[in-house]
Amino acid sequence: MKRIIVFANQKGGVGKTTCVINLAASYAERNRNTLIIDLDPQGNATTGLGIDKRKLTSSSYELLVSKEYVMPAETGIDNLKIICSHPDLAGAEIELVEDSKRNLRLKERLRDYSNFDVVIIDTPPSLGILTLNGLCAAKDLIIAMQAEFYALEGLSMIINTYERVRSRLNPELNLLGILVNMFMQRLVVSNEVLRDLKSHFKGKVFNTIIPRSIRVVESQSFGKPIIIFDPKSSVSNAFRELLREIEKDV
Ligand code: ATP
Ligand code: MG
Repeated sequence: MKRIIVFANQKGGVGKTTCVINLAASYAERNRNTLIIDLDPQGNATTGLGIDKRKLTSSSYELLVSKEYVMPAETGIDNLKIICSHPDLAGAEIELVEDSKRNLRLKERLRDYSNFDVVIIDTPPSLGILTLNGLCAAKDLIIAMQAEFYALEGLSMIINTYERVRSRLNPELNLLGILVNMFMQRLVVSNEVLRDLKSHFKGKVFNTIIPRSIRVVESQSFGKPIIIFDPKSSVSNAFRELLREIEKDV
């Protein structure tokens, strides 16, 4: 496995899932064998790829709580598969609470998926056991965020968690970058926040910025990544650019 990337931010609605789906679709477009793991009980990555959760036989819940192999589901997109979410995942936090290695479950299970080139993990908007499993299994962390007034305050929480995970649980975890999503060029405040962010986190903010576009919302209602739904849109191009930035243009 060449890359294991987790998207995390305890703040909800910043675009974690949208970025997971579209970065994954960009890797798939480049012929990388790509796997999404949906660790959010909300299952937005699962439905965002047009998958009907009622038809699933196994999910990321089994991945965390049992030892059985979970067959990744087809997405209808070449080179892209997903281990879907299930509402039962919400109970996994409680079921695992007595297990001393509860945060390392996913890391151990990922060995079964070494045939994939890239694994991208979506996490819920909280810093509980599910997100910790994502942070312990991954090598790279991307923090998705919006350039809005309180954004910097919210960031300290996820950065602290990242540092704690690095010192106690997963020393290999690397902050790949902070990704600004839903950017509105015309707003003065967005530009100010971006400038502050870049001066606070020198070298850690991706140059690639994902613009806000109604096409993203439309693509979701069709159960498709925007990369597939509208391949020539500015947002699709931004995700391809993000991939080039991550891979240093391989
Ligand atoms: P949660 O914390 O609930 O899991 P999230 O961080 O995963 O949320 P998303 O679900 O990806 O966030 O996005 C939140 C909402 O913002 C969605 O309705 C999505 O369609 C919209 N959205 C995300 N990115 C963009 C964008 N670049 N342009 C326009 N809308 C966007
Ligand atoms: Mg989400």
